[in-house]
Amino acid sequence: MNSSEFETKLNWVYVGKVKALNSYVSEHAVLLFHCDKCGAEFYGKPMYMIGKDHQRHICTMPYGDRYGERLFSIHSRPKPNKKKTSKDMGKRFYEMVIEDYTPSQIAKELQVNPKIIMMYFKEEGLIE
Ligand SMILES: [Zn+2]
Repeated sequence: MNSSEFETKLNWVYVGKVKALNSYVSEHAVLLFHCDKCGAEFYGKPMYMIGKDHQRHICTMPYGDRYGERLFSIHSRPKPNKKKTSKDMGKRFYEMVIEDYTPSQIAKELQVNPKIIMMYFKEEGLIE
């Protein structure tokens, strides 16, 4: 398969929406592609781009890494545990006090009852 054969097949498979941004070297050489339909830029091997259905670009999905290995989905990586510990919360609380946040801003960010924040501010003499 040469460069123009590849372009023809690529245009046919993706109805002209996907373009290679690098020049075609061989069907195994990874190229950077751009998809007009979903706006994604991704790496892929030409042979996969026009290969079997499951090897082709699927809109909004990261197609692959720079080695052209296919990533199955956006959700393949485990999500980091976002739950904050009370220690982290305390640290953030003091940062916000120092940075002159209002009690209601602090309450909103830390998702705690504003009354508790107000009590702290009163105890510390930060507000009347
Ligand atoms: Zn796309």
